[in-house]
Amino acid sequence: MKYETIIGLEVHAQTLTESKIFCGCSTRFGQEPNSQVCPVCLGLPGVLPVLNQRVVELGIRIGLATHCKIAPYSRFARKNYFYPDLPKGYQISMFELPLAEHGAIEIFTNAKNGQSSDSERKKIGLTRIHMEEDAGKNIHEGFSVGSRVDLNRAGVPLLEIVSEPDMRSPEEAIAYLKSLRAILMYTGVSDADMEKGNFRCDANVSLRPVGRSEFGTRTEIKNMNSFRFIHKAINYEVARQEKVLEEGGRIVQETRLWDTKNNVTLPMRSKEEAHDYRYFPEPDLVPLTVSREWVNKVTLELPELPDAKRERFVNDYSLPVYDAVILTASQALADFYEKTVSLYPKPKIVSNWVMGDLRRELNDENKEIDAAVIRPEQLASLLKLIESGTISGKIAKTLFVEIYRTGADPEKLVREKGLTQVSDESELDQAIQEIIAAHPKEAEGYRAGKEKLIGFFVGQVMKQFGGKANPGKVNALLRKRLLAS
Ligand code: ADP
Ligand code: MG
Ligand code: ZN
Repeated sequence: MKYETIIGLEVHAQTLTESKIFCGCSTRFGQEPNSQVCPVCLGLPGVLPVLNQRVVELGIRIGLATHCKIAPYSRFARKNYFYPDLPKGYQISMFELPLAEHGAIEIFTNAKNGQSSDSERKKIGLTRIHMEEDAGKNIHEGFSVGSRVDLNRAGVPLLEIVSEPDMRSPEEAIAYLKSLRAILMYTGVSDADMEKGNFRCDANVSLRPVGRSEFGTRTEIKNMNSFRFIHKAINYEVARQEKVLEEGGRIVQETRLWDTKNNVTLPMRSKEEAHDYRYFPEPDLVPLTVSREWVNKVTLELPELPDAKRERFVNDYSLPVYDAVILTASQALADFYEKTVSLYPKPKIVSNWVMGDLRRELNDENKEIDAAVIRPEQLASLLKLIESGTISGKIAKTLFVEIYRTGADPEKLVREKGLTQVSDESELDQAIQEIIAAHPKEAEGYRAGKEKLIGFFVGQVMKQFGGKANPGKVNALLRKRLLAS
């Protein structure tokens, strides 16, 4: 039987705020365990939470950026469960009345080969966005006896962003996550640093026989913070469920974990239902009201978002959608691109270099453009050197790697290394005549119709000039001389 994959994703994004959501403790990462705690986030008796206004503002911002309706009236709720890293015995979250609902974001899959047909675009619905506090961290390794708890993270603000079950493949899931992550970063809502756990994902996966309209039973793979793992985990889970169904079994609704060592998902606990948490309105906080004026103010402050930038790149620079999607993946990369184009106004050529050579170097080092030393000025100047015929495209490729690594000035490099291309026609012509004279058999072969032999002659000329002969001129002169002699 053929099955269709159904995926819905829950993302937890830590907001870019200096203090926690209900107290003044710092949110700084990587500090001494339990050095950033106070009676509120330790859950001591007699304290009261005070809502961090900035978290609400960032929640509104991401809500607007994902086309959600911002609730004029929302409410925090207590989600009760016991865990050593949750000192209060409950987490302050939102339940029936979240901050934002009914949004959507657009994803692109297989927007390859510069085609921009609508089939590659897809809207993924956002069910809701709500605010909540993070829990602390249990540390099980590094102690001879027992475990420890670090509560620095307890009370750190999170936005939980829940999607509709609209995705149909792991590739769509990854495209959704990348798109959402870009919006979070563009808007300054979160740095979405996955290594620090500031952008984590729970993936809900189910299968249904093709043609059926009801969804099948789902499992939820918890707390993943790498695109590669998420992709692998969903693939694994799809295959696992398919096998169970094929063998006539039933999928049990449960929470699973991705085991990065053995590349399998493992059951963690049976799925808890909302009623297991005994949700009730948080009595220590007043309901939250968000005025029209506040929403309007935040709307006006929104930067150009990835969607709009992508459309603008397609329209203003006549770029294929494929290019525009990649170039606008981060604000910094988009800025680098635009700055380079402003200095060297050939958008497609710049795009090829940014998407090819530059991204290759960045990916090799697992780096973002803001951490690299190369500047738009240098790329533009390199491209000008090619255009003026000073250096060949081939030499430019090698130079690029050096400029990327050292931030060297291209013109200076070319001068210092004596890489200036030989374009002087009489100099080239002289050499060409000598080479033809030295290879009469090949010359005859060419004249007899063996077109390919031109490559042999180009190679000889290049060898003589150490690769620095102007290829266009060499070709033209060679053909002329070969046919004339
Ligand atoms: P919970 O809060 O218990 O995790 P929700 O109803 O909030 O449950 O749903 C969580 C996520 O599961 C949502 O992203 C939703 O799209 C997704 N989801 C719901 N049903 C299915 C299903 N049958 N298959 C895949 N995903 C699903
Ligand atoms: Mg869930
Ligand atoms: Zn605190």
